[in-house]
Amino acid sequence: MIPVFRPYTTGKEIEYLKEVLDSGWWGPGPKTREFEEKCAGYIGTKYALGLNSATAALHLAFKCLDIKDKEVITPSMTFVSSNHAILYCEGIPVFCDIEPDTLNIDAEKMEELITANTKAIQVVHYGGRACNMDKIMAIARRHHLFVVEDCAHAFGGEHNGKKLGSIGDFACFSFHAVKNLATGDGGVIVSNSDDWYERLKQLRWMGITKDTFNRNIGQYSWFYDVVEPGFKYHMNDITAAIGLAQFEKLEWMNEQRKKWSDYYSENLKGVGDIELPPIKSYMTPSYHNYVIKTDYRDDLQEYLRKNGISTGVHYYPNHLFEMYKPFSMRLPVTEAVWKRVLTLPLYPALTNNEIDLVINTIKNYYNNRKNNSN
Ligand SMILES: *Cc1c(COP(=O)(O)O)cnc(C)c1O
Repeated sequence: MIPVFRPYTTGKEIEYLKEVLDSGWWGPGPKTREFEEKCAGYIGTKYALGLNSATAALHLAFKCLDIKDKEVITPSMTFVSSNHAILYCEGIPVFCDIEPDTLNIDAEKMEELITANTKAIQVVHYGGRACNMDKIMAIARRHHLFVVEDCAHAFGGEHNGKKLGSIGDFACFSFHAVKNLATGDGGVIVSNSDDWYERLKQLRWMGITKDTFNRNIGQYSWFYDVVEPGFKYHMNDITAAIGLAQFEKLEWMNEQRKKWSDYYSENLKGVGDIELPPIKSYMTPSYHNYVIKTDYRDDLQEYLRKNGISTGVHYYPNHLFEMYKPFSMRLPVTEAVWKRVLTLPLYPALTNNEIDLVINTIKNYYNNRKNNSN
């Protein structure tokens, strides 16, 4: 079977891992700090904090924003982490519909959802294709709202030449096995705020602070104080070693993704009823995934599976899940479009033969349909 996603090994992972394993320091340490500095430098933010997932990063972002009983405007077309993070903090997700082509949250539909109780907007850069950040940031400023960027798909993507993750108040990246930079599991939260940086450091490690050390029991070098029930969310040097190896090939991996995405678009243009993923003038995508739209999604998916090709559906809308029913509302675009989306195989080491097989199998499917209906 051709998989939908497949991580790429640069050849350096084992070498860097061995270094960490031999060093005897496996916890959070110098490699984690080096990786954090690389992330902040690359994304263009003052701070980056290594965590064990993007879910943790989103949780901590909303924790800092103190959204208890407050509304957060958020898309339903996302992995459920984005919206669970709001619930972890006892916030209220207010679902906003998406643009039918980009599948990104629709800035035009945002303002009508804002109330006196709204605290933040969450954007998900679907597939690493930038949301309309000029409009969204203008709305946020007008209504004094915070902006959290779910950048799980977006490592390397840009909006008008600025890296995704450098625009909102917080941004959360994932290094889960299928993402553009993969460490198995891992994440990073980035921000420009000194205050939030200190709070985030405390929150990711059990609410432990060394600051009160000097003030209180200064004579004990081992002493730390605990000032809130924080979490066990930090990254470790084993994860960071893999991340540092991945970083060296990130640009190349993203170029490969772009090459294969362009190849799909050239070859699938005009095939059947297929709608290709769009690129807007303000986007430089990270090409996390390649998602087509077709009315025959389920049938085509089954045909591809029978021919050895895996595909995915990203996503089943969150507001339709049983547990989100209390927050459910009508989202006509999301409810119509999710039935048409199909994620095709896309990863850096995809071969010419593999992608041609995918393309030809899709063409065969539509030819068979046409012949059967004649
Ligand atoms: C993968 C993903 C997440 C969660 O990332 P983890 O690192 O697995 O916690 C969140 N949001 C979106 C859109 C994702 O695709």
